[in-house]
Amino acid sequence: MSIIPYGRQDINQADIDAVVNVLRSDFLTQGPTVPAFEKVVADYCGAKHAVAVNSATSALHIACLALGVGKEDIVWTTPITFVASANCALYCGATVDFVDIDPRTYNLSVERLADKLILAEKNGKLPKVVIPVHLCGQPCDMEGIHALSQKYGFKIIEDASHSIGAKYKGEPIGNGRYSDITVFSFHPVKIITTGEGGMGVTNDRHLANQMVRLRSHGITRDPGEMTHAPDGPWYYQQIDLGFNYRMTDIHAALGLSQMHRLDEFVAKRHDLAAHYNKLFENSPVTIPWQHPDSYSGMHLYVIRLPQNKREFNRREVFERLRSHGIGVNLHYIPVYHHFYYERMGFIRTDFPEAECYYSEALTLPMYPSLTKAQQQEVVKKLNTPIGHQTIF
Ligand SMILES: *Cc1c(COP(=O)(O)O)cnc(C)c1O
Repeated sequence: MSIIPYGRQDINQADIDAVVNVLRSDFLTQGPTVPAFEKVVADYCGAKHAVAVNSATSALHIACLALGVGKEDIVWTTPITFVASANCALYCGATVDFVDIDPRTYNLSVERLADKLILAEKNGKLPKVVIPVHLCGQPCDMEGIHALSQKYGFKIIEDASHSIGAKYKGEPIGNGRYSDITVFSFHPVKIITTGEGGMGVTNDRHLANQMVRLRSHGITRDPGEMTHAPDGPWYYQQIDLGFNYRMTDIHAALGLSQMHRLDEFVAKRHDLAAHYNKLFENSPVTIPWQHPDSYSGMHLYVIRLPQNKREFNRREVFERLRSHGIGVNLHYIPVYHHFYYERMGFIRTDFPEAECYYSEALTLPMYPSLTKAQQQEVVKKLNTPIGHQTIF
């Protein structure tokens, strides 16, 4: 087992008390805590509506459905992301394609997006939705993506699974200035946690209503949404094919409690990143470049190892750190490398920056309770190739 994982939750007594209080209350699910959590997140982001669900994967799925993604449609995202950012489109029967990454931020490249849109327009294959992912917590160039969406008529879902608490041009991620829906994840390795959980935030009441229905079987209790007057006071009507993607009040209580420390968590992650940066001064590894427009959620600290230096061979470094109980990781394998996607005929040379990134990237441990001594240990082990080790 890893002694230092790559990420982990930070749970205090207030979090535990909040969960226990729900366990002692009347409602374990569909009580008052889910809407309370939704309101706090919506207010934090400056969004009008928030819809809590049982994972970010579920939120991405119903966000696509709410935007009308179906069999004839195309959805674009970045290849350097967790598979869920692309799978959501496949769930809807749509086709997925990828846009290569920016070599500095590792986010979806606006230049490559612009190029690909010109071609797609010629071929009549424009995307219905583009899903930018704020990789490692660093916001994408949303102004650029939004401008292209106005020109080509696509919708935008921000996959902000890494970036609750982040800011773009001084404003919180999730405020919807440049997108239709923003999705957060509350998995334990992310910035705040509910155990499992996710949320979609939007300023569009119609999209929010659709997501509310889709998370609970496609059922409505609002007579205004029914096809005829209710049969009686017991009546509800299923008007879409929805799912059971609901969040429980137990999970929401943890999320609500964690929201109190969100800014503190992100600030702590920035402290840790600054310390890693210092430890890598004069080192040939590439530290995470930060765009001046962005304040990252700093979910992940990804370095790139120089390919031309034998002592920084990525596999060797990875295995050495793992053997010392340091849970380094690799975020991410390009989605089109996965067997399920490979069969769709993607050509690796179409994504040179993603390929280069994949050959060099390494995720170092990053979570609020990580200590500076542990960071020192990580960097020391990283810099000490086998054969250079002293016997002391
Ligand atoms: C974690 C993650 C998801 C999925 O989140 P879940 O809450 O585990 O479903 C989706 N996209 C990205 C980029 C993620 O990191």
